[in-house]
Amino acid sequence: METRLLYNSLTPDILNELGAILGSRGLCTDQNDLTPHLSDWRRLYKGASLAMLRPATTAELSAAVKCLSGAGVPMVPQGGNTSMVAGAMPDESGQQVIISLSRMNRIREIDTVDMTVTAEAGVILQNLQKVASDAGCFFPLSLASEGSATIGGLLSTNAGGNNTVRYGNARELMLGVEVVLPDGNVINGLRRLRKDNTGYALRHLFVGSEGTLGIITAATLRLFPAARSNALAFCAVADEDAALNLFRRFRSHDETAIRSFEYMSGQGLALVLKHIENVAQPLSAAPDHAVLIELAASRPEADLSGLMERVLEEALTAGELEDAVIAQTEGHRAALWKLREEHPEAQQRAGVSVRNDVSVPVAKVPELLRRASQAFRQLVPGSRPAPFGHIGDGNIHMNLVQPEDMSGEAFLAKSADIMNCVHDIVRDLDGSFAAEHGIGRLKVNTLEAWREGPELDTMRKIKVALDPHWLMNPGKVLRP
Ligand SMILES: Cc1cc2nc3c(=O)[nH]c(=O)nc-3n(C[C@H](O)[C@H](O)[C@H](O)COP(=O)(O)OP(=O)(O)OC[C@H]3O[C@@H](n4cnc5c(N)ncnc54)[C@H](O)[C@@H]3O)c2cc1C
Repeated sequence: METRLLYNSLTPDILNELGAILGSRGLCTDQNDLTPHLSDWRRLYKGASLAMLRPATTAELSAAVKCLSGAGVPMVPQGGNTSMVAGAMPDESGQQVIISLSRMNRIREIDTVDMTVTAEAGVILQNLQKVASDAGCFFPLSLASEGSATIGGLLSTNAGGNNTVRYGNARELMLGVEVVLPDGNVINGLRRLRKDNTGYALRHLFVGSEGTLGIITAATLRLFPAARSNALAFCAVADEDAALNLFRRFRSHDETAIRSFEYMSGQGLALVLKHIENVAQPLSAAPDHAVLIELAASRPEADLSGLMERVLEEALTAGELEDAVIAQTEGHRAALWKLREEHPEAQQRAGVSVRNDVSVPVAKVPELLRRASQAFRQLVPGSRPAPFGHIGDGNIHMNLVQPEDMSGEAFLAKSADIMNCVHDIVRDLDGSFAAEHGIGRLKVNTLEAWREGPELDTMRKIKVALDPHWLMNPGKVLRP
């Protein structure tokens, strides 16, 4: 199949046609308004674009995509633009048109018998959590960017987050999806069925495809009963093995009670305490290794405080636990969560950091933490390994913050060596270089290096079948 890679730019005629389809609120060409949409959250790149479309309905978006695809103009879907891999911003050519889903932010339906909610792609995660909770239910997707990240972006990246250990990734929470294809046609797959084996499961093709196969406009998602009993503890553990052992202890007592199990290094916690306002050291001494454990159950009689105390007592006796604090009020719970949630922001403020998003089999997490931290210190003396993440999923953000006495430029010059170093260790431990943030623009080369042969070939064939002219989010995930 022929692949056309010469793109066309927007012309006044195309802009007029788009204006007629979308109305004045749906078409933005003012460069001041466009500026926040042209760079990524980590400020690694600065792109350019002549226009951003803001359709209000699926029909408007479908007509606009038909117009752009007919004219050979490339498109970049954008939700909350919180991508950690520069997935949602246009490149520097100025040819790519941003498609923002921000006006498609309605909850179409909530059904507490089916335990489903159908939400448009631009609904912000925090708003969906609130809608679910107001209906007496619980929507489990939860991550530090939930005040900005949208349902479309979360599904397109198959986001993970804090509760994946119990409820799975975004994919596991989705039953049906509505998508505008690269040619403008619409797949209406908003079925809310638990069982639906009608041919290829196309809905799963769009989850995790990062806007390269089509634009998600709405999804039907699973809800769960609200928790009526919970308990949260912030603990200092003896070392990396003790962190994993504590997870195993809770799992063997009651696997279904664990909602979150998060690891933080002492260095990462110190950065949060230094750079974030309104936080305080929760324990009597600064820990070298900390974990945050949240237990939750919908059974009101589940004695989760009792379970928490019993398991922590056991770990203390075994010499794995050094100190712990159990949240006493909702405010206390939020304050302890804040220490975990502010890790990305604290590292952003601490100077230049090399970040990654790796996963290994759960059993190998302690080895990953030890080997990578040691290798980092040898590679860049004085640098600050600040790993944190979802230990119960084997997913650690094995981040490294620049030494205080080194310039950001000098540190950045070593970033390729640092990434290679962590990737070598992760490969050796049978892991993945992209656990939850995806590929975006940042990791296209790495995907090619890790997934050569028939696997990468099949991905390209799927891309070309749906988007023969590579108009949908070009430069992300794959290149021709
Ligand atoms: C502080 C912070 C913490 C984070 N923590 C986590 C975490 O714990 N777990 C995790 O998985 N991620 C995390 N992330 C990454 C990010 O929040 C997620 O990737 C999120 O899913 C992106 O949602 P978004 O709406 O901002 O999407 P965007 O950043 O706008 O887009 C992400 C990708 O999806 C595509 N896209 C967006 N909307 C659509 C659509 N409607 N249809 C098709 N494609 C679309 C874009 O083109 C892009 O490729 C974090 C980010 C930040 C800044």
